[in-house]
Amino acid sequence: MKTSVKTPAKHSAKSGAKVQEMLIGGRFVRAESGATRELFDPASGESVGVVPEAAREDVQRAILAAREAFDRGPWRKTSALERGKLLLKIGDLVRADAKAFAELEVRNMGKPLAEAEYDAADAANCFEFYGGLATKIHGETMSVPANSLSFVLREPVGVCGQIIPWNYPLLMAAWKIAPALAAGCTVVLKPSELTPLTALRLARLIHAAGVPAGVVNVVTGPGAGAGEELAANPLVDKIAFTGGTVTGRAIATAAPGNLKKISLELGGKNPNIVFADADFEAAVDGALFAAFANQGEVCSAGSRLLVERKIHKKLVAAMLAKIPRVKLGHGLTPGVKMGPLVSAAHRAKVEGYIQVGVQEGATLACGGGRPKGAAFAQGHFVEPTIFDDVTPDMRIAREEIFGPVLSVIPFDTEDEAVRLANDTVYGLAAAVWTSNITKGLRVIRELRAGITWINTYHPTYNEMPWGGYKQSGSGRELGLYGIQAYLETKQVNVNLDETPLGWY
Ligand code: NDP
Repeated sequence: MKTSVKTPAKHSAKSGAKVQEMLIGGRFVRAESGATRELFDPASGESVGVVPEAAREDVQRAILAAREAFDRGPWRKTSALERGKLLLKIGDLVRADAKAFAELEVRNMGKPLAEAEYDAADAANCFEFYGGLATKIHGETMSVPANSLSFVLREPVGVCGQIIPWNYPLLMAAWKIAPALAAGCTVVLKPSELTPLTALRLARLIHAAGVPAGVVNVVTGPGAGAGEELAANPLVDKIAFTGGTVTGRAIATAAPGNLKKISLELGGKNPNIVFADADFEAAVDGALFAAFANQGEVCSAGSRLLVERKIHKKLVAAMLAKIPRVKLGHGLTPGVKMGPLVSAAHRAKVEGYIQVGVQEGATLACGGGRPKGAAFAQGHFVEPTIFDDVTPDMRIAREEIFGPVLSVIPFDTEDEAVRLANDTVYGLAAAVWTSNITKGLRVIRELRAGITWINTYHPTYNEMPWGGYKQSGSGRELGLYGIQAYLETKQVNVNLDETPLGWY
């Protein structure tokens, strides 16, 4: 997934397009080496921009800027109210620019416009949520067994390295930057090398909002080199990562040099459980949306559909009847419900899994190939694909495919549904469809996952915690929980007894 959009280092882009500079220390700059990367629309192959190709030395510059801004800049002296107001201003700017953000996201990443518009609105909301929260950070006063006033101060962790994936570039940047700024931290954000354009646009707005130099730095470069430097550099106090579990493990290994704090939001192989008593039409829609929203390139995608055997064949038939409505095309084309995959390399990976599913003996109920026609010739499209009669031991039931590939697995009893749902190394998301709320809640309590739904799939809110059990990560983002990762906790004890200690 790393090289398909890359122009050779130190060569200028073929299109001659202007380089969109990255933000380091309050200035928009290029990579020291002069290296650039040209990006191409994954649906049409057209050039969509040229960005600096940061290397370790650029990331080091950004870390030094963030360190300086944290240790000696004005940022730590700003009040929570000022930080909150800045975040609200950024929220306003993102909302005012939402149309441009959404279109840019579509061109760079491939998702349908309606989904990109939702992301832009949600990113604005995220800045507003943490803008409001900045003034609610507080410690406690404790009753201690001495004549002492003992209380807790909450303080920013320091310099935060933030690494985000390509599937929700703007939204992930907001999820990372907003709570860090609310807490008073400084930031070096590294978007995916595949989709840095909306993060760079956001950097311009953050700069325009008046965030002091060095507080937010955005570097565009590859995981190998730029990302590794951020994870390993001892001047970074905390690393916040969203991406694949394998990379998460590499980061956890690279980061402990200075015992920096680590939060990880990783992958999933999420069960979507449909009981026979569910509202049938709602469950059909929910199963398709769970699997094919954002082309299935979603960590929380409902990629394992567990269906009670009594309605299994009927549900699959109903999904197949609706599949033609999952209209493929360029994300900016009206009515399109599914765009291309992000890159040729990622499509090859997804297609590899489709071959594996066929070899393993699952029934290819629909899709599996590339759509035909001139409109699709230049893009990385894959049809929405459903495998039926999947058994829990198959690789397509166990491994994260991160594309539009759904595995349908029938079950007979509630206990079996729970056992199958939890039979995974992941624990990110899960859903239950039933008209019996007692059963729904009973099953939810048994599921080992951090994000769960009853009779819906995918909605999530800035107010609510996001993160996984097991190998889906550690820590939580968003909501009141999300800010905790950016705060230190200091105890303060004030002696109220004026007599000397008398120990010696
Ligand atoms: P990757 O793990 O490949 O990459 C994520 C980020 O890490 C990118 O910015 C990447 O840079 C960078 N990176 C890669 N290698 C290293 C390294 N050795 N050191 C430091 N940084 C590195 O994930 P993808 O971008 O492919 O995203 C898909 C994955 O993200 C899926 O597994 C998905 O489940 C997960 N995800 C999880 C979410 C959650 O909230 N739990 C949300 C969204 C996605 P570059 O791309 O430039 O190489």
